[in-house]
Amino acid sequence: MPERSSGGDDLFGPHNLPYGVFTTADEPGRRRLGVRLHDRVLDAGAAARALGSPYEALLAHGDLGPLMAAGRTAWRDVRRALTAWVSVPAHRAELEPLLHPLDTVELHLPYAVADYADFYSNEHHAANAGAILRPGGRALTPNWKHLPVGYHGRAGTVVVSGTHVVRPTGQRKTLTASEGDPRPVFGPTAKLDIEAEVGFVVGAPSPQGAPVPLAAFRDHVFGVCLLNDWSARDIQAWEGQPLGPFLAKSFATSVSAWVTPLEALDAARVAPPARTEPLLPYLDDTHDDEPGGLDLHITVSVNGEEVSHPPFSSMYWTAAQQLAHLTVNGASLRTGDLYGSGTVSGPERAQRGSLLELTWDGAEPLDLEAGKRTYLEDGDEVVLSAWAPGPDGTRVGLGEVTGRVAPAVTGS
Ligand code: CA
Repeated sequence: MPERSSGGDDLFGPHNLPYGVFTTADEPGRRRLGVRLHDRVLDAGAAARALGSPYEALLAHGDLGPLMAAGRTAWRDVRRALTAWVSVPAHRAELEPLLHPLDTVELHLPYAVADYADFYSNEHHAANAGAILRPGGRALTPNWKHLPVGYHGRAGTVVVSGTHVVRPTGQRKTLTASEGDPRPVFGPTAKLDIEAEVGFVVGAPSPQGAPVPLAAFRDHVFGVCLLNDWSARDIQAWEGQPLGPFLAKSFATSVSAWVTPLEALDAARVAPPARTEPLLPYLDDTHDDEPGGLDLHITVSVNGEEVSHPPFSSMYWTAAQQLAHLTVNGASLRTGDLYGSGTVSGPERAQRGSLLELTWDGAEPLDLEAGKRTYLEDGDEVVLSAWAPGPDGTRVGLGEVTGRVAPAVTGS
């Protein structure tokens, strides 16, 4: 859906205020922290200075790191201040020159990604992927309902929305290889896919050796973004035994330019699906005060055509459970850590969050205006967008994630 629709249904009003980092055409070398308001971005550091705010020290930076590291009380107080600034008419004249139209600025990755992990926490996706990749076998592995399965990925190749993604090259087995031929072929992937996911951004660190319990989720996680976990299915199928994803995913992961504060999604909290196995105490959220799921409505578009509407409320494991599991062995958190939810899929075909599932590994091509698609072709553009229920009947938009496929670079 459009990011701003008629009837006052504004996804980026004062109830949202996601954070981003931008530059302007006249000062392309000076990155500034901003908050999005409708279709403009407020220079947050300049606003703090103009209003004599004590939060200038956290906001007058070229990235979000200092605010992310400042902790939950600072996140709440700064958000309250920003909400007041953009809501109080008395500030309008002072802030007007500090609001830049979005189509005049360039957006950047707003924080340095520290460690990156990705989960596999949607039962519909896991069952579909299991049926496609292990036909005749168990859809879910025996551990799946006891822990949120995940892997550690490559932080250095996380890119901001809008960055082109070069088709990766690597080893794969092909259908044309003779039966029993153990040798792979080398070349550009023929199965470039997307995974529609939600990313969680860690602000406050934790010391090594100290697990982060479920109840401390809000003390550590700063905000939420959309995330596209680009995947090369043929490379993945060949390399992934027995240790899982490696080069099939490490070439690029795209995230929104905007980080939505966790607090902006308070009205979107929903209970996750009923658990069918008892959980170990560190993952047991049945007695938590607030439900751990989020009612995010995601749309996947390819070349401008909507192909899927994955419901994030269908995630079996919550972001708090994923964080508790990520740290239960004593692994520390760092400011800028990012973790992906895992592909979001629902029970219906039109709710599947990857082309692997939407086309059943190419057996059921999508009939798009741009032509039939099994996997992505060079030049294809993928857009993830999402909204969630906000306070008082409003909607909260997440920053979209776009990425266009560029041809492979073949040097050999
Ligand atoms: Ca993934």
